[in-house]
Amino acid sequence: MDMLAVRADRLFDGVSANPVEKPTVLIENGRILAVRSGGDLPADAEVADLGAVTLLPGLVDSHVHLVFDASPDPVGRLAEADDEQALVTMRANARLALASGITTVRDLGDRGYLSLRLRDKPTADPAAGPLLLTAGPPITTGTGHCWFLGGGVGSGPEAIRAAVREHADRGVDVIKLMATGGELTPGTASHVSQFGVAELRAAADEAHRCGLPVTVHAHGGPGIADAVAAGVDMIEHGTFMTADGAAADPAVVEAIAAAGIPIGATVALKPVPGVARPPRIEMMLPLLIRVFLELRAAGIPLVCSSDSGIGPLKPADALAYGPAMMVNLLGVAPAEALRSVTSVAARACGLGDRKGRIASGYDADLLAVVGDPLTDPAALPTVAAVFRAGHRVR
Ligand SMILES: [Zn+2]
Repeated sequence: MDMLAVRADRLFDGVSANPVEKPTVLIENGRILAVRSGGDLPADAEVADLGAVTLLPGLVDSHVHLVFDASPDPVGRLAEADDEQALVTMRANARLALASGITTVRDLGDRGYLSLRLRDKPTADPAAGPLLLTAGPPITTGTGHCWFLGGGVGSGPEAIRAAVREHADRGVDVIKLMATGGELTPGTASHVSQFGVAELRAAADEAHRCGLPVTVHAHGGPGIADAVAAGVDMIEHGTFMTADGAAADPAVVEAIAAAGIPIGATVALKPVPGVARPPRIEMMLPLLIRVFLELRAAGIPLVCSSDSGIGPLKPADALAYGPAMMVNLLGVAPAEALRSVTSVAARACGLGDRKGRIASGYDADLLAVVGDPLTDPAALPTVAAVFRAGHRVR
């Protein structure tokens, strides 16, 4: 492949709050060779001058469910779909995500390892989807949160170890475990733990022995505390939900911060006229905001993600709306919100040396948007171009 020079008005490199003005990004063999400000172009480069746009690293969505169709009843719809039909949904979601500038996704719950088929099927079409990391079916109790995805196991550390080993043998990239109930699953309660600390520790130990990171779905404070004590690598949601509200436990917050564990804040949603958040979440929102402010104040990295697929506000392209929500709800600076879907998210997924930054040696995954998301993060969904591994896919 020849050298490609991508030009724009300004560039957010994934880290710095100060944009690069009049950037040229030089790309060769799918990698970024160099980033320059102004100056001449190499004579042998093909030029893509994108005009009055801002370049950013391709977005990283650390928590998606490609298998869910973002309908009002994704669980029911999936139950009616055979594997081939489910794969059609997954492919469409992957394509939609990439077209919105998400160049890396981490699927934290499929059905029956279907995402491995998607990940491992060779495709000549660079627009087919983002880089896919996957957990396979999430490990849960027999009737626990998302049991219908097929990752239900008995209880006890040995059953958990066996489930982790099976996932590793199948070739997953990350272990996902449901430590508490969840909003999506009738008969479970988000604040109630499904596993004890011994089981979570068995999961973390076995995953690490297999060379895999482990991320844990946890809403309730006790489940979060057990996950931290077990030595997990990341916590999804981390809402400290109670039966009818949310309240962070300062000692647990301190433990998360001391362990350096990032929290996946699954806040991104795509506004749809006439569709509101689930009433329970709407009612809890002020308390959830307070929890996230306390997590952030403790220095815990917040990774903005979507949990895409689980409802009408969570289509596969929802992530780009997340940074504006981080700014509006939590009062963070735009650069911090943008880091939470680029460099910070990439690091949390174990890809900090390849993804989430526009820098020499990084994969040439780029998003160009109209406007300047460093001053107005609501500009992030106004996509002008997307590059994946140096190929323009939009
Ligand atoms: Zn999820």
